[in-house]
Amino acid sequence: MNKISIKIGVLFFLAIFLLECISMVFLHNNILHSRVHEELTSLQTRGNNHREILEASFHDETIRHIAMMEARTDIQVILTRPDGTIYMSSNRVTEDMKKIMKTVPKHVPHEGLILEDDWKNEAYIASISPVLVDQKITGYVYMFQNTQKIKELISGLNQHFLIAGLLSLLFMIIIIFTLTRYVTQPLIQISEATKRISKGEFSVSLPKLGKDEIGDLGESIKVLASDLEILKNERNEFLASISHELRTPLTYIKGYADIARRQETKGEDRDKYLGIIFEETGKLSKLVKDLFNLAKIDENTFSIEKEKVHLRPYFQSIIGKITPALKENQMDLVLECSDDLYLFLDPIRFEQVILNLIDNARKYSEANTKVRVEARNISGKVHIKIQDEGKGIPEEDLPRIFERFYRVDKSRTRALGGTGLGLAIVKQLVESHGGTIKVTSHPNIGTTFEIIL
Ligand code: ADP
Repeated sequence: MNKISIKIGVLFFLAIFLLECISMVFLHNNILHSRVHEELTSLQTRGNNHREILEASFHDETIRHIAMMEARTDIQVILTRPDGTIYMSSNRVTEDMKKIMKTVPKHVPHEGLILEDDWKNEAYIASISPVLVDQKITGYVYMFQNTQKIKELISGLNQHFLIAGLLSLLFMIIIIFTLTRYVTQPLIQISEATKRISKGEFSVSLPKLGKDEIGDLGESIKVLASDLEILKNERNEFLASISHELRTPLTYIKGYADIARRQETKGEDRDKYLGIIFEETGKLSKLVKDLFNLAKIDENTFSIEKEKVHLRPYFQSIIGKITPALKENQMDLVLECSDDLYLFLDPIRFEQVILNLIDNARKYSEANTKVRVEARNISGKVHIKIQDEGKGIPEEDLPRIFERFYRVDKSRTRALGGTGLGLAIVKQLVESHGGTIKVTSHPNIGTTFEIIL
């Protein structure tokens, strides 16, 4: 048994036990009252019957007859005169009977009265019926019944109740035991599964738990476990990629630094090696900066501060920053953006998006080609396109280029200073603006990135 079963079981038990006790007491009292009432009325009816016979013929013969009738039963009949002296009694008159007969009220109705109903404490229950002959009271019929019989009856009733109570208690315990097991079993399985997940065992299997909330919970835990597994694998891959990315420039730096510091390395060569070291350090710091940006986005500690931006001048200022680099590659840039376009965005973060995309267009295009930046309002949404005439991306690589550290041509892009993180950052930033980004590309014709906000 586990804690939750005991808890639910005890609660069930207490609730049902309380209910059963209340209904048992109620039922018991009801039966008891009606039984006693039955005895009392039957005694009184019997007295009234005798009285009727006496009213029909008040003779010694009749009286003896009545006495004889009751002599063999556990009921005793006493006939008194109006002044209370005993005329006839079917059996010996005890002190207890005399005591009861003294309590007779002044006026007794014709249908009679119950004189004593305290079956618990008294030796007899008793009734009285007046005998009227010619409108005159000629006597009283007293009926007595020993309470022993009622007491036996009630104790029999109590015994039945006790047996019934014990049986239903036993039944209740069995039912509660099986029910709580049935109810708590899935919860226990779930709790065991989560324990295993927390130990790193992600391939937990949970049996079918039904279509209720517990079933849903089981499903959610399965999803959670597989998400956790994916996350863990991603993290491992990510760490492996980072160490790999760091190792290459570090190997260069270490190797060239080693050659540069040698005595026999001449001035010109040393300058060349130091140049390489400087370049590699630059790549390293760009990589670290990109990683830092990504980490910030991932952590959700970074906030997007949107403001209304007039798109045309905004793009013009960004383009101003990158034109010198494009000119160096003998490339042109065309901006197509009408003057009435405004957008709510974080100007600093979104500038990074546009700069990254234009810089990619620059890196992966030949001289004398064009980059087009275009913004249009299409049915209430702004579509921003950055289009180049570069070498394009092979179709099989397209779905993966937004992944971290994914590069189409590893050696070439490294040489161009790419970290493989640029597009991952772009995607995260666009999504944190509530937008989407997609790419279309044809090898040797060009690539188009389209952002919809
Ligand atoms: P990198 O820093 O290496 O450029 P990105 O994440 O920006 O990394 O891009 C991922 C890869 O997608 C690049 O290595 C490159 O192979 C490819 N790519 C991105 N933009 C273009 C483009 N405009 N034309 C051709 N290939 C591109």
